[in-house]
Amino acid sequence: MSNERTPRRGVLLIVASPSGAGKTSLCRRLMADHGGLELSVSMTTRGIRPGEVHGRDYNFVEHDEFQRLIDQDAFLEWADVHGNRYGSPRAPVDRALAEGRDVLFDIDWQGARDVAEKCPEDAVRVFILPPSLEELRRRLVTRSQDADDVIERRVANAKGEIEHCDAFDYVLVNEDFDRSYAELAHIYHAERSRRFRNLWVEDYRTALLREVV
Ligand code: GDP
Ligand code: ADP
Ligand code: 5GP
Repeated sequence: MSNERTPRRGVLLIVASPSGAGKTSLCRRLMADHGGLELSVSMTTRGIRPGEVHGRDYNFVEHDEFQRLIDQDAFLEWADVHGNRYGSPRAPVDRALAEGRDVLFDIDWQGARDVAEKCPEDAVRVFILPPSLEELRRRLVTRSQDADDVIERRVANAKGEIEHCDAFDYVLVNEDFDRSYAELAHIYHAERSRRFRNLWVEDYRTALLREVV
């Protein structure tokens, strides 16, 4: 982002929603428009979908490997979602925070809760709601990347996920994509401008106050 000053504290921007509400599309666009934002690439035991790239969308691993990583405490958080395991690797997040960089998480509500608990000052939680459950199903069907039974399981799980939106800082209804994207970008920009994240302000202010005019 332009007008950047350091040192600063990074934002951990967490986007969650029921499957099909549009969070991955919104996150991809936010990443494309903000070179300094880093995506937390999750590990998952889910099978790879057509078009997904190992290392970009997820790191796809077997159950044994996932369990080994849990035992090594390698996850900042992990959860069972729709019958598969998903986890956010800890090391890249620690590095980003130490260097004052921002990290974007496309994770479920349980992961959002756990990251916010572990990093209460840094985490900002955004929940994406669908316009309706009917539209949610239509999007999952149109995306045509999941088998029919997987889609039905995801639609059936949606209400249980939506129940948790009241724990989030921000809630968006993803009806018009461009409008939802603009709202998400505004949230990100506003959160970056919060004074406590901008550690340079104190010195800057002191220098301004010393200036003789
Ligand atoms: P996939 O998993 O690779 O198919 O990715 P997605 O299903 O998340 O999105 C597919 C493409 O559609 C991406 O290039 C998105 O940016 C784009 N896209 C998603 N939603 C909308 C929308 O509502 N309007 C428009 N114009 N593009 C969208
Ligand atoms: P999620 O990551 O939440 O599962 P995706 O980003 O994969 O959701 O979106 C699910 C499907 O809905 C995709 O095919 C995407 O292109 C589409 N989609 C996303 N946002 C909108 C929107 N506002 N209007 C219509 N379709 C959308
Ligand atoms: P999908 O299989 O559609 O890619 O993801 C299914 C769900 O798992 C989504 O709600 C997604 O946000 C969530 N998810 C993806 N990665 C992680 C992760 O690392 N941790 C947690 N807790 N959830 C994740």
